Amino acid sequence: MVFKPEKPSIFGESLESLSARVVEAGYKPFRARQTMEWVYKKRVGDWDAMSNLPKDFRNWLNAHYIFYPAEPVLDKRSNDVTQKLLLQLEDRSLIETVLIRAPQVGVGQAHSRKTVCVSIQVGCAYGCKFCASGIAGFRRNLNPSEVVAQLMHICRREDAHTVRADASRPSFDNIVFMGMGEPLANYDTLVKTIRILNAQWGLDFGARRITVSTSGLAPQIKKLAEEGLAVRLAISLHGATDAVRSQIMPINQRFPLSELIPAAKAFQQAHGRMLTLEFILIEGVNDGLDQAAALVEIARELHAHVNCIPYNKVEGLEWKRPSIRRQDAFVEVLKKAGVSVTIRREKGHDIDAACGQLRLKTEAQDDAPPLQS
Ligand code: SAH
Ligand code: SF4
Repeated sequence: MVFKPEKPSIFGESLESLSARVVEAGYKPFRARQTMEWVYKKRVGDWDAMSNLPKDFRNWLNAHYIFYPAEPVLDKRSNDVTQKLLLQLEDRSLIETVLIRAPQVGVGQAHSRKTVCVSIQVGCAYGCKFCASGIAGFRRNLNPSEVVAQLMHICRREDAHTVRADASRPSFDNIVFMGMGEPLANYDTLVKTIRILNAQWGLDFGARRITVSTSGLAPQIKKLAEEGLAVRLAISLHGATDAVRSQIMPINQRFPLSELIPAAKAFQQAHGRMLTLEFILIEGVNDGLDQAAALVEIARELHAHVNCIPYNKVEGLEWKRPSIRRQDAFVEVLKKAGVSVTIRREKGHDIDAACGQLRLKTEAQDDAPPLQS
């Protein structure tokens, strides 16, 4: 189910679909290309700024489209490197978009590498036990314009203080589908959005700098492998045996490791690049050295990099983050076995950066914007 607004947002159109509507309305097709140029290269926020378009065409655009289908209601900056936007959609649902800055040594903030983490659903149906996005269940899928708009909001905020040779280029370096929701459960939106981001007339953003993170929908992983998009794939593994993974992620009962691993392998072979396995470390649940040993086997089989993430406490959930000593012992097993591994040291803990947490808190407050149920 996708929310259908009265007027669509311009961010949902492709050059082809916009051209078709423009021609149908009696205008020349090149008006569509000019419009996209204003939207994605000059990144204006209203029709009247599109100064080389005739007034009656701008009126036509205004009558048929809105710009942003999502408006910021909160902009929270943590004192480290993370900034979180809480956006309200037209049906008053809330979604989150996070900007993560990784400063480059010695060159200051203006040159930091920026990663944008986008949401693709309101809530999530998969109910992983460590994740705030799943706590309130699933509300609806986002449409492509609602995902593209998240990136355009960030882009316009960052444009002013980002140094880049070509000002038409987006003001961030990577996009990750790791916010709220399961990207492969909203497959059509995912693929349409990536095509808009990737297109020369769109953001012209390289697919290689886009990462899709999934909890492991095996059939859709295989489908994405055949889609002809050079995106990266990250798998939320979090358990290296079925017994442990099923305890953490209910999806494992539908697609156990015996189905997930071959699907991931098919993706890896079709793309020829390293996959990423995400592994949240939760004390006494999945941080034992036997799990590390099983993880070594999976990483080798898939030619994958492992990203260990110390569990971020979610209010209302019992679990704890292991001590640094336990985290290090786990990582050491992987390193010794020659597996490529990193451990994420915290970013944005003070603004509830683990996915879904800011929305959950805001919805729980009395003064939160009213939501439709
Ligand atoms: N549905 C997709 C994408 C969104 S969740 C998926 O499951 O992959 C993406 C990631 O958010 C998780 O894999 C995990 O890395 C991170 N995450 C969610 N809750 C977290 C928590 N409590 N602590 C640390 N990381 C968390
Ligand atoms: Fe959904 Fe991903 Fe969170 Fe699991 S980890 S509940 S799939 S958003």
